[in-house]
Amino acid sequence: MFSPVTLLVVAIMSSLVSTAVFGSLLHAQIQGLRRWICANAVVVAALVLLALQAPAPAAPVIVVASALLGAAALMMLQGCREFFGLRPSRSLEYVAYCALLLGIVYWGYLSPNVNARIALLSAFLAYARLAIGWTVFRLRPPGRPKYCYQFLSGAAFLGAAVHASRSIACVVGWEHQTTFLAPTPINIAFLGLAILALPCLSIGVVMLAHDRMAERMERLANVDGLTGALVRRAFLAQAESLLDEARNSRLRLSIAILDLDKFKAINDEHGHAGGDQVLAHFASTVSSGLRSGDVFGRLGGEEFAVLSQSTGQVDTFRLIDQLRVRIAASRLAVASGEVIYTFSAGVEEYQEGDTLANMMGKADAALYTAKAMGRNCVVGTRLADSQRA
Ligand code: GH3
Ligand code: MG
Ligand code: MG
Repeated sequence: MFSPVTLLVVAIMSSLVSTAVFGSLLHAQIQGLRRWICANAVVVAALVLLALQAPAPAAPVIVVASALLGAAALMMLQGCREFFGLRPSRSLEYVAYCALLLGIVYWGYLSPNVNARIALLSAFLAYARLAIGWTVFRLRPPGRPKYCYQFLSGAAFLGAAVHASRSIACVVGWEHQTTFLAPTPINIAFLGLAILALPCLSIGVVMLAHDRMAERMERLANVDGLTGALVRRAFLAQAESLLDEARNSRLRLSIAILDLDKFKAINDEHGHAGGDQVLAHFASTVSSGLRSGDVFGRLGGEEFAVLSQSTGQVDTFRLIDQLRVRIAASRLAVASGEVIYTFSAGVEEYQEGDTLANMMGKADAALYTAKAMGRNCVVGTRLADSQRA
């Protein structure tokens, strides 16, 4: 039942299915996907060649199939690098691939040696799998679910371990082959494990592609396209969970509500497109001035909010006031001229028993005070002083 030919046929079927599944993802334009599809198609071609002549394929078939398997492993690795936005190819790997071809031809024709050929090909495949495992493990995007990245790197490490053990077994003489696909127990065990790792690798790659699509959808749903700030719903959801944390851990938490001053007049003078440019400029200036744990959202129109973790009202007041000074000093060039604009803000700190709604209500009241004080001003609910330019 577990003859090498059966295992090859199973591997061909699973690679065909994987290629079809990859093809269904083509419309999503995932980086690296085309290389993964090519790699699978090349694996199918190599395995069909071997299966047609198993259990003792002729030397030219073995040479071509081995060259194809090496190329497919390299393409798979390059697809992973492309997925993570890295340069896919490395010149040293092409040198290693040429050395592999030379070795296969040498031990295939000039001085036939099945063990040496298997050891060389397995070492190359082990390297390619190891590099995939390491790339995926190292580059898992922070904030994404770990499972699919761990699954793929696990499958790649398993494949690497199988190929490396086979290479070592051939070098030290534990495995002695007379033909490439001899149905010895050890050969069947190695082939079975290597062939099991193949669909696992493909499943892992499909999981990665799905995670990339989910990430895009989440981004579209949670991030405002014009300003890059969180949309109101996503901001409020994050604010609620930070508030829960603050309640439980007794860490400080402050909120600031920021509103652009006389923005309607900016729209009237510079048009809606000019107003949009102001909003984008405001958001990028604020984002660049925030700390890594701060949460920035667009509550609607020209009204934004900043949530500062582990920060009291005085520090949040200072941070927002620095931003106020920076914005007021900036000059933004738009099609109809130069825009100078300001914003006002109200700051509130979490007090025991507060809900998000009443915290925001108090920050909003402080914002109205700031507007009433003449705008371009930050007001803290619990601060005696407020600042204005
Ligand atoms: P105040 O200083 O009291 O806040 O005055 P304001 O003019 O900024 O406030 P008001 O609420 O009267 O006007 C806000 C304007 O913001 C009205 C609306 O057309 C404009 N606006 C809301 N969303 C957008 C947007 O996405 N792009 C542009 N260009 N304008 C927007
Ligand atoms: Mg306004
Ligand atoms: Mg407003």
